[in-house]
Order: sequence, then C-alpha cells, then structure tokens
Amino acid sequence: MNPDQVRQYLSFYQDLGVKNIYRRKASEAAKAAEPLAAGVVAASAAGAAKPAKTPAKPAPWAIEPGAVAPPTLIKPATKPQIVVPELIPLAPTGDTLLQISADIGDCHRCGLSKARSKIVFGSGNERAQLVFVGEGPGADEDAQGLPFVGRAGQLLTQMIDGTAAKEGIPIHRSDVYICNVVKCRPPENRTPLPDEMEICGEFLFRQLMAIQPKAICALGSTAAKALLATKDGVTRLRGKWHKWRDIPVIVTFHPSYLLRPYNQDAKREAWEDLKRVLHFVYD
Ligand code: URA
Repeated sequence: MNPDQVRQYLSFYQDLGVKNIYRRKASEAAKAAEPLAAGVVAASAAGAAKPAKTPAKPAPWAIEPGAVAPPTLIKPATKPQIVVPELIPLAPTGDTLLQISADIGDCHRCGLSKARSKIVFGSGNERAQLVFVGEGPGADEDAQGLPFVGRAGQLLTQMIDGTAAKEGIPIHRSDVYICNVVKCRPPENRTPLPDEMEICGEFLFRQLMAIQPKAICALGSTAAKALLATKDGVTRLRGKWHKWRDIPVIVTFHPSYLLRPYNQDAKREAWEDLKRVLHFVYD
C-alpha cells in the first residue's frame, strides 16, 4: 500500500467513526490465524469443503463491466442443512395423574407456594369423560387439599348431581374429574397472576392430556383464559362450543359468582350450560 492509499484507507475508517486503528505485530497476526487454519484442516479431514486453491480462471462472478455473463449454475459445496428445532412435548408419553402429581412434588415454582397449606391437585375419576376446571383453591380447599369442597364446591356438587338426575343422566360428582388452573391458594383469593397461571398451566394441560375427556367445562373467566387464551369474559364465551386442542370446551359461570344473590339470570344460564355439556358427553 502506498502512502496515498494508506491516507484514503484511514479517512474511510474515520468517516465510519473508527478512532483507534492499530497494527498487530506479525507474530500476533500469525497466531490469530492459527485456529482458522486448524478449522480448515479439520473440515478437510472430515470430507467437507476443501481449502480453496487460487483460481486458475476468473471466478464466475468476476465478470468485467459490460461483458455478458453466461448463465451459470453455482452449486453449493454441501447441501444446506435444515435444522428443525426440537419441540418440547406438552406431556410425556404414557403420562398419568400419579406421575403429574409426583412431578409437582412439594412445588415452589411460583410465589403461591409461600402461603399455601396444601397443594390441591384435583379429584374424581381418572377416566372421567367430563372435566371441570376452576380457578384456584380457596380457604377450605387449601386446608383439605381437595378442590371445590367449600361453599362454591357444594353448589357445584348440587349442580352436577341435581342436573344429571333431572335430565335422567346416571352420573354423580364422583364420576367427573375436578381441578383448577392453579394448584395453590392465591392470597386473599385473588385472581392468579399470568406467571402463576403459566407455570401451573403446564400441569393442568398434562392432567387434561392424561384424562382425555370427551368435554371440558371451564368454570369462570380464569379457566377460560387458561384454556382458550382469550381475554373475553364468560358472558361472551358461554352458550357456544370452543376447543382446547381437540377437546370441546363449554364455558360457564364460576359457582362463586352464582352464590351472589343478584345473579339470577346467570344461574339459569349456568344450568343451561351444564345440561348442554352433560347431554353431549353422556347421551
Ligand atoms: N374456587 C375454585 O376455583 N376452585 C376451588 O377449588 C374452590 C373454589
């Protein structure tokens, strides 16, 4: 490089904002090139691309301006490899409720573990054709380790047993499976937070995959949100079928909501929803 070329070179780097340009000693430069050379040797030994030799002819892309390049098909030296990322399966094959419960263990994956007394995994028939999904344990459930055993739970039992009897469907609460989105009681019965739902949702999904029910009944908007990834409330979602994976889902009001005295319309609608899902599953 002559002095003029060096000046041009430096001013070009200055324009780019490069302030410090230094020269490496020849010995350092040689050392830095070593791993690269070693890599080429290794690749060559493995039968991959050989180190390029000085081309005898101009390379196909080195066409002089104005010349017409003949159509050239340039084949890559090796086939491009399509890397398919491995998908994490939602549930291990042959998963069981027992295994899921064991995997939950003495869970401390989220903040809900701090104040809980018992993990409320779920209860009912492992081979149920219908699964009810609530929001999360309340005080009674936290104390007993069982879902829907408090006031809302008693109403749910009456709704299942009463509606089934009236409709001539020979099932009771013990024939279905009942669980929640989160397995630990949220403090002051607050709505579970998105990260709590996400962490515990993994276990809910495994429960549903292991049971493979014919239908799911989502009780309230938290269950609907977890299963259907929607922000819509129950009023919008109820009265029609949805799907979680391939399993039909009915959304209805949470029993706690129905316990409030002024929700007469919601009670009638919840009974309609229940009749619908019971007939779908057991007729
Ligand atoms: N509410 C719920 O959502 N789940 C229960 O288990 C009890 C009350």
